Amino acid sequence: MTGPFIPRRAAFFHVEEGWTDGGGNGWGAARGEHAAARERMVRDQLERRGIHDGRVLEAMRKVPRHLFVDPSLGWRAYEDSPLPIGEGQTISQPYMVAVMTAALTLQGRERVLEIGTGSGYQTAVLAELAAWVYTIERIPALAEGAQQTLGRLKHDNVSTQIGDGSMGWPEASPFQAIVVTAGAPDVPPPLVEQLEVGGRLLIPVGSPHAQTLRRVTKRDGGVDQEELVSCVFVKLVGEHGWHDE
Ligand code: SAH
Repeated sequence: MTGPFIPRRAAFFHVEEGWTDGGGNGWGAARGEHAAARERMVRDQLERRGIHDGRVLEAMRKVPRHLFVDPSLGWRAYEDSPLPIGEGQTISQPYMVAVMTAALTLQGRERVLEIGTGSGYQTAVLAELAAWVYTIERIPALAEGAQQTLGRLKHDNVSTQIGDGSMGWPEASPFQAIVVTAGAPDVPPPLVEQLEVGGRLLIPVGSPHAQTLRRVTKRDGGVDQEELVSCVFVKLVGEHGWHDE
């Protein structure tokens, strides 16, 4: 009599911990707790700190951040901090993801280039807000993990590539928005070249230990540059980044 019941319980458990999180229809603690934690994250870490872009808040309410970290860290996924994702890299702090995404002022029709896929979390947020996301990661294990997570979450408007994103993705250019989620010594010229006139590039620029988030807007015959906030990102390693790990 108990035979058929065991696999069914196992299946329910998988669903609760897995891909349909956030519905809040009363199934189990994990699902409800993650949804509640995500709601608190948006309210306390984003809205209270001045993120008011409704589309960005909605996307971050929706994307299940805990599925982009190792299951053993899932309970910390909604904390106000970056977290390790392996290979010496990190998933960015939720607030920083929100600041960068809001500063891109996406309307929904853009083709966006992201450098530094990492866990794929920022990719998923961008995929909610733009027409297509092209994302490049230099570490194969991270690129493959992110691709799997994005596929399971049914983000079908994302193209991934393994390689040096400091060179951009010329075949897919021009882009209306580019976001670099690793810190660079300076703005890589290929990225400015691959930006459409009127397009925005967000990039942390500075030393390996401290950067300033810079927004570069391409104009006819030049660029406007603004410095937004202080930040600390892992290094952009590549031809137009840092040359060592
Ligand atoms: N957006 C990611 C943040 C990952 S940390 C997230 O939300 O999880 C930054 C990532 O940039 C790291 O995974 C690192 O390996 C990658 N990276 C560093 N230099 C790179 C380069 N030149 N091209 C592509 N990816 C790079």
